[in-house]
Amino acid sequence: MARQFERLAQKPGVRFLGNVEIGRDVSLAELRQIYDAVILATGAAQDRKLGIAGEDLQGVYRSWPVVGWYNGHPDYHELNFQLRGPAVAVIGNGNVAIDLVRVLAKTAAEMKASDLCEHAASVIHAAPLTDIYMIGRRGPVEANFTSVELAELAHLAQVKPVVEGAEIPAVSGIGDAALARIKDKNLEILRGFAEVPAAGKTIILHLLFNATPIAFEGGAGLERIVLQESGGGVRRWRIPVQTAITAIGYRGVTLGDTPVDLQSGVFVNDGGEIAPGLYAVGWAKRGPSGVIATNRPDSLAVAEKVAAFLRQQPAKAEVQQRMDALLAERKTEVYNFAAWLRLNAREIAAGVSQGRPRVKAASWQALKRAYGKAASA
Ligand SMILES: Cc1cc2nc3c(=O)[nH]c(=O)nc-3n(C[C@H](O)[C@H](O)[C@H](O)COP(=O)(O)OP(=O)(O)OC[C@H]3O[C@@H](n4cnc5c(N)ncnc54)[C@H](O)[C@@H]3O)c2cc1C
Repeated sequence: MARQFERLAQKPGVRFLGNVEIGRDVSLAELRQIYDAVILATGAAQDRKLGIAGEDLQGVYRSWPVVGWYNGHPDYHELNFQLRGPAVAVIGNGNVAIDLVRVLAKTAAEMKASDLCEHAASVIHAAPLTDIYMIGRRGPVEANFTSVELAELAHLAQVKPVVEGAEIPAVSGIGDAALARIKDKNLEILRGFAEVPAAGKTIILHLLFNATPIAFEGGAGLERIVLQESGGGVRRWRIPVQTAITAIGYRGVTLGDTPVDLQSGVFVNDGGEIAPGLYAVGWAKRGPSGVIATNRPDSLAVAEKVAAFLRQQPAKAEVQQRMDALLAERKTEVYNFAAWLRLNAREIAAGVSQGRPRVKAASWQALKRAYGKAASA
């Protein structure tokens, strides 16, 4: 990813202006005045809420900040994530939930060659976990995992995965052949979990299907989750957990007066066009689905629209100068691509002696230090 970014950012005509936040440093309206076209690739960085009692109890977290915290996103360095055990719940049945489970359940040895941040590794590997619940509202066929990610759960050194709350059907019974292939593969993987030996495993991963969380309960901190059988069932039960992370999807955030679909949280757009000269791509366009590779063909189609629009417009003058003047006026500390390259090189170099891909600068302070002081050189 970083290498691809490096190639793109050095193409002629591309200028990288880091540490510039739209809405804080400049407004979307100002950008639109300066540039011929603006493309919003702002993602979907807000967790959906369950909307149930106890969601604000200490010990209940949302996935975006937690993932940001262990991945070294400086905005979440001060999250103070406390992985209280012995039981943890991850609520959701997609790849983000699997990512969380993997990171929480892997041993220090399994994470040794990764770029998991030190501050996170020390918290995670000290936690005395015995049970992780991955809770899905619906059944194994409806779960949104991709097969490669799901299959990895059978190969974690200290984890025994167990499917609970659902029979695993022999086939998905879905009409769409391509989707049925994925789902059937997932069902096969889930069936295979029964063969994973329990001997020597210290953590049970309960893949709990057809269970709808209806409340978090506790006093000073989370103690239990109340679950209800999905699909109109009346059975209710409680599981004791001390930490819970919700991973039930994301929403985009509003930017200026750009209309946002209240249901899906994406910018209201027609094939990527929000208005003439204003576009959206990626999760800001489609919503929080699809991997990085999904964004590429989708973005190419939007790029063609942008190109067609630009061909019909007289090009605006002195774009670069006007943008620089605005950022100077706002006293924005801009980090250009040379600064990004310095940071990248330092992070990679710091990882070499530890056999890791990189050691990230995870706080704003460390990040700015690593960028080097010649910010706009
Ligand atoms: C936990 C998790 C794990 C994932 N794992 C994988 C994986 O292993 N492989 C894979 O292919 N995909 C993975 N995905 C999916 C992948 O992250 C998305 O497909 C992809 O990031 C979407 O790209 P995007 O450009 O739309 O948004 P993003 O990559 O989220 O980029 C949005 C950018 O906009 C910036 N931004 C937002 N608001 C503003 C603003 N106001 N001003 C300036 N900048 C702003 C943000 O800082 C961010 O840099 C994962 C997603 C999650 C949440």
